[in-house]
Amino acid sequence: MFEDKIVIVTGGSRGIGKAIAKSFAEAKAKVIVTYKNSIESAEFDRLGIQYAQCDAADTNAVQAFVDGVIKEHGRVDVLVNNAGMTKDGLLMRMSEADWDAVLDTNAKGVFNFTKAVTRQMISQKQGKIVNISSVVGITGNAGQSNYAASKAAVIGFTKSIAKELASRNINVNCIAPGYIDTDMTSKLNDTVKQGILQSIPLKRIGDGGDIADAVLFLASDRAAYITGQTLCVDGGMVM
Ligand code: NDP
Repeated sequence: MFEDKIVIVTGGSRGIGKAIAKSFAEAKAKVIVTYKNSIESAEFDRLGIQYAQCDAADTNAVQAFVDGVIKEHGRVDVLVNNAGMTKDGLLMRMSEADWDAVLDTNAKGVFNFTKAVTRQMISQKQGKIVNISSVVGITGNAGQSNYAASKAAVIGFTKSIAKELASRNINVNCIAPGYIDTDMTSKLNDTVKQGILQSIPLKRIGDGGDIADAVLFLASDRAAYITGQTLCVDGGMVM
């Protein structure tokens, strides 16, 4: 279904992004992942997945990266805006730096990448953009005001860009993962984890593959009539 499609996955070195990249590669897409700090390259080399260091928050670096992909591959069929980070804390103790860092990566990063691919997708008259938000962007969460604001921003951005680009045959959708087992959630203590587990009707913690399945659906032609939507992939946490 994705044979020869050019797919960019931001923040694909670990966790959910890595699972998404591997699923696209298994579906025969040409995948390019970005990361910020480091990558264990051997597995990506073995899978034929390209990788590049590119800070999603750095507008010029993102434009240069996307220009390079277009120069090398001639097109961009799918963009998955997955790169994300947390810097949790109650508002009373949250520094301006922690607010800015989370908003810069999680919200401005989505703006940067989406803007950088849009001209190319318009000229192709085809494209799929899938943004990774969070259920926290819908429900809010004490101790995560910066993160929740950034993820709510992604949902509003998705709807707006879906409206702007619908006439150009570009679908823009969001996935809101619930609790997924990655480095990001490994920081939570066992009591918090047990509490979250109790709130999941399907009674299990999700994995990257659960999110990848939904991303590949939204990036496929089977989702051609879906745009501007937010799909919660959360074991039923939010309904
Ligand atoms: P991880 O912390 O496991 O991985 C984060 C990835 O994003 C890494 O590849 C990291 O690169 C990259 N990254 C972080 N900041 C930047 C940046 N500024 N520029 C480029 N790459 C960056 O996170 P998850 O896999 O858990 O999360 C993936 C996405 O899913 C995020 O957007 C997150 O908010 C969202 N999400 C996750 C949930 C969960 O339960 N895990 C729940 C809901 C949403 P590097 O390795 O170089 O640091």
